[in-house]
Amino acid sequence: MEIGLLGGTFDPVHLGHLIIAEEVRCKLGLSKVVFIPAGQPWLKADRVITGGEHRLAMLRLAIDSNSYFEVSLAELERSGPSYSVDTVSAMRDEYGSEVRLYFIIGPDALVELHRWKEPVRLAGLCQLIVVRRPNSRREYLEALHPVVPGISSRVRCVDVPQIGISSTEIRERVRAGVSIRYLVPPEVERYIYEQELYSP
Ligand code: ATP
Ligand code: MG
Repeated sequence: MEIGLLGGTFDPVHLGHLIIAEEVRCKLGLSKVVFIPAGQPWLKADRVITGGEHRLAMLRLAIDSNSYFEVSLAELERSGPSYSVDTVSAMRDEYGSEVRLYFIIGPDALVELHRWKEPVRLAGLCQLIVVRRPNSRREYLEALHPVVPGISSRVRCVDVPQIGISSTEIRERVRAGVSIRYLVPPEVERYIYEQELYSP
C-alpha cells in the first residue's frame, strides 16, 4: 500500500491543499492521502493559531466528499511541538514496513526543511514529495543540498497546477471583509462565518 501524508496547520484548509493532495494521489496512484493537522506548529510560534477543534472541523468538512482522503489526529493528540519526523516515525510503526509513505510538501515548506527536526532521518523514513509549479526548475533543491546533505536524491518532484492560495490570505480576506468564495470549499466558508473565525 502507498499512502500520502500531508501535514500542515490548516488554519484554514483551502483549495490549494485539496488540489495538491488529489494531484499527488492520482499521479502516484496512492491508496489514500492522510491530512495531519499540527498540534503546536513550532515554526509558527510567533502567531496565534486557531484552536485544533476548529481546524479539525474545517478539515473534516473539506475532505468528507473524497473517499481517498482521511484525517489523522496524531499531532493534535500529542502534546508539545509537532515535529514531522516524530509523526512519520509513528506512522511507520503503525502501518508496518511494507507500506510506502509519501510525505507531501509545498515549495515554501521545502526551503525551510533544514530548520526541521532531523530532516535526514525524516527523508529516510519516507519519500519526500515536493509539489512544484509545472516547468519550474530544481534550483531550490540544489540550494538545500549544503544544509541537508543528500536531500535532493530523496526528494521527488510532482507537477501540480499552480494555485496562489494561502491560509494567510484567507485569514486576511475574512478580517477585511473580502470574499473567500471559491478559495475554500463552501462548507468551510460557511463554518468560518458561523464560528466567526478570523474576524477582527
Ligand atoms: P499559512 O499561510 O498559514 O502558512 P498555508 O496556506 O501555507 O498556510 P499550511 O497549512 O502551512 O498552509 O500548508 C500545509 C502544506 O501545504 C505545506 O507543505 C505548504 O507548502 C502546502 N501548501 C499550502 N498552500 C499551497 C499552495 N497553494 N500550493 C502548493 N502547496 C501549498
Ligand atoms: Mg505556509
